[in-house]
This record gives sequence, structure tokens and C-alpha cells, in this order.
Amino acid sequence: MRCPFCTFDDTKVIDSRLVAEGGQVRRRRECLSCSERFTTYESAELLMPKVIKSNDRREPFDEDKLRAGLLRALEKRAVSVEKIEAMITDIKRVLQSKGEREIPSLLIGELVMDHLQQVDHVAYVRFASVYRSFQDLDEFRAEIDRLSASPAPAKNEQ
Ligand SMILES: [Zn+2]
Repeated sequence: MRCPFCTFDDTKVIDSRLVAEGGQVRRRRECLSCSERFTTYESAELLMPKVIKSNDRREPFDEDKLRAGLLRALEKRAVSVEKIEAMITDIKRVLQSKGEREIPSLLIGELVMDHLQQVDHVAYVRFASVYRSFQDLDEFRAEIDRLSASPAPAKNEQ
């Protein structure tokens, strides 16, 4: 792989480990020319279904968009990047396992909400309030009450 610092054509792998609950391989690489180090992540390329938007338009599944949505909801929350990557991997796996060529964008939103609800209630409410655009304040209030009544996710969960 080409060095991003000096563009030399070859690097050596100095460390390799499984991350995102085994869904990715993280590699530390060192340039054979300038000795700069950098990290790469490797994950299986899954053939993702196209996304049907609410206006009926189709667009390619966009992992960066999914990641951006999760990061926005989880801003300043105590959830590791690795946990977020594991969620993305799992959401992709579920979508892919549907075996459909097209899936409604609504389904992705529901999957994100399922995952956030298990990981962080605040992030869940943030995401849901934007995504589902709660009909009115009473509905929003009811959702928060429901969440504070249910047990919080385990703090030391891996
Ligand atoms: Zn280099």
C-alpha cells in the first residue's frame, strides 16, 4: 500500500488486530521509505441494497451518512468509536441479510433507533426526535418518560 506521507509504493504491517467485534481488521503500517506510521481498517465489502427515499427516489446506500447520523446522535456521549463501528457493521449485516435489492430508508432509521436504544438513551432520543420528528411535544415527553422508566443500558458493557 502506498504511503500517504511520501507516496512511496510499499509499507509493512507492524500490528494487526480485530476490532468492531470482529467485523474489521485494524492494521498499523510503517512506510519502508520515510518510516511514518498510519492505520488502515479493513472490512468485508458487502453488496448493499439501494435505498428508497421517502420521495420514492433511489440512491446508493451511504455508509458515511449512516456514520454521520450516529456520530451526531452520540456527540459527547460515553460510547467508543469501536462500538459505533460495530453498530454500523451490524446494521449493514441486517440490511444485507434481507436479500432485497432495494430497501426503504425508513428501515435504516428503525435499525439505527433499535441500536441506539440499547446503547445510549440520550442518543436514542436525539436521533428519534430528528428522524421521526415527533408529532408534538406531548409525544416527545411520553417517549422520554418511557425511557426513564426503563432500565439504563449496562455501563460496563463491551
Ligand atoms: Zn513514506
